[in-house]
Amino acid sequence: MIDSSLTELAAALAGRQISSVELTRQALARIAAQKDLNAFITVDEAGALKAAQSADERLARSEGGPLVGIPLAHKDVFCTEGLATTCGSRMLANFVSPYDAQVVSLLRAAGAVCVGKTNMDEFAMGSSNENSYFGPVKNPWDPGRIPGGSSGGSAVAVAAGMVPIATGTDTGGSIRQPASLCGVTGIKPTYGVVSRYGMVAYASSLDQGGAFARSAQDCALLLSAMAGFDPRDSTSLDRAAEDYSRDLDQPLTGLRIGLPKEFFAEGLATDVRAALDGALAEYRRLGATLIEVSLPNARLAIPAYYVIAPAEASSNLSRFDGVRYGHRAAEYGDLQDMYRRSRAEGFGAEVKRRILIGTYVLSHGYYDAYYIQAQKLRRLIAQDFAAALNECDVIAGPVSPTTAWRIGEKSDDPVQMYLSDIYTIAVNLAGLPGLSLPAGAGADGLPVGLQLIGNYFAEARLLNVAHQFQLATDWHRRRPPVV
Ligand code: GLN
Repeated sequence: MIDSSLTELAAALAGRQISSVELTRQALARIAAQKDLNAFITVDEAGALKAAQSADERLARSEGGPLVGIPLAHKDVFCTEGLATTCGSRMLANFVSPYDAQVVSLLRAAGAVCVGKTNMDEFAMGSSNENSYFGPVKNPWDPGRIPGGSSGGSAVAVAAGMVPIATGTDTGGSIRQPASLCGVTGIKPTYGVVSRYGMVAYASSLDQGGAFARSAQDCALLLSAMAGFDPRDSTSLDRAAEDYSRDLDQPLTGLRIGLPKEFFAEGLATDVRAALDGALAEYRRLGATLIEVSLPNARLAIPAYYVIAPAEASSNLSRFDGVRYGHRAAEYGDLQDMYRRSRAEGFGAEVKRRILIGTYVLSHGYYDAYYIQAQKLRRLIAQDFAAALNECDVIAGPVSPTTAWRIGEKSDDPVQMYLSDIYTIAVNLAGLPGLSLPAGAGADGLPVGLQLIGNYFAEARLLNVAHQFQLATDWHRRRPPVV
């Protein structure tokens, strides 16, 4: 049952073919059976069964919407009252938040049953999920490989059928890239659509919460429940609530898909390219026209991002000083020594690297040379997208240059790791919505995702374009061998 779509699950729950408690037990059993994938940092069995019980009471009163009684997992970057929120870090290993993130309260109110918190790269910094204090997450398609990051645990939880839906965050690709490498659907909405209240900050001008599910149809249901204006987040956009499912059934006849020529050039693995070509041919059969567009400054996205994101991170992470909350060294001399030791022990290598870079690019004399320049590149990149989206309705391209790589393969070379985000990062710099959908398989049978990028607030359109593809193909239905 747990493998059915959200719509099927909601119907089964409403029709009493299954109870939320039974469904939740199935999810918990899957999580336990696939413990080796290390997808979860915290499993909340007692809390989940209690929530499932109240969901069953709601169902008995025929109350609520499509998420009542549905098991769900939250990326461990979202604060959950009474349950550990670690952010994948030793710094927060024992932190229990006194309040819920807005996303968590919204989904709680919608009746979804939180089964636990998923593993992630420390403070959402990474592309492989190898930067977690709680150990790497494994790809269910081949446990010797990475699942992508930083929301790897959420992607794996959905791919391996532990839960039908999960939340994630995307600062430079952390929803789209693991979705692509694990063969699930993931959407990062327009910046400001999902509240960042209670979402541990990495790079505040780029961080955005979003949804993982097996299909675009299910992502639309989850996103509709997560999104919305929140006065407690100063960058939340004050817009009317949306039903992201509203356009799913629109035909694609006449749709103009723009293919950035810079995305289909050197650096894209031939097997990924072949899979994407197959998917684009399917879009042509569905009535779309493919046109070439250009994003001339997209190649500057990585250098711009690796100035801006570390700059913001160095500021955001200064709150972890061992005084108010988080890890405090057991032994220290004076106050300065306590800060130093607590931070030295609490943060992992990648987080420290970024704090150092960020502090450097913001320091006197370097601020103009790096930070201001990066902000100018950010503007140019946004203008490129605006021009391209004048010529087409949606942009399509790769998510990741290769399929999932082997655990350890890029761990010693941070720059190699950073380059793997070449197709996703520009979207965050521009604040646009992006989606990844399962679109084919690589030479090794591993999943390949297709990225769809839309204009601001085009989430419903992106989900429509993905859904029509999923009606015509079965890539999103293929399950990894462990399931
Ligand atoms: N891989 C990118 C980074 O390491 C993006 C991570 C993210 O989107 N959170 O920063």
